[in-house]
Amino acid sequence: MSKLKSWKELPCGAIINDLKAVLENKTGTWRSFRPIWNKEKCINCLTCWIYCPDAAIILVDGKHQGINYDYCKGCGICAEVCPKKVQAITMVKEEK
Ligand code: SF4
Ligand code: SF4
Repeated sequence: MSKLKSWKELPCGAIINDLKAVLENKTGTWRSFRPIWNKEKCINCLTCWIYCPDAAIILVDGKHQGINYDYCKGCGICAEVCPKKVQAITMVKEEK
């Protein structure tokens, strides 16, 4: 295990510059709820993509293409911000 850094050694804003370490840390394993995306209902407004704190909404050519469960922590923000008249994302309990 690597030695933890003191706060004086951290970069300004505690920004993580090591992209490889970020990608290797599959934070989706922390999830206790899972967002389920309904492609048929989605109007591609991308509000969920803007708000997702883990950049876990998959975009291909500007279109919503699903959720990256390797990094989605199940916070439910995407389901909250999806327009109420659409409700294309529902949260379900994660099965381990
Ligand atoms: S549940 Fe949270 S982390 Fe997962 S896709 Fe939705 S907003 Fe992103
Ligand atoms: S917020 Fe809802 S309707 Fe908008 S892109 Fe996301 S899933 Fe689709």
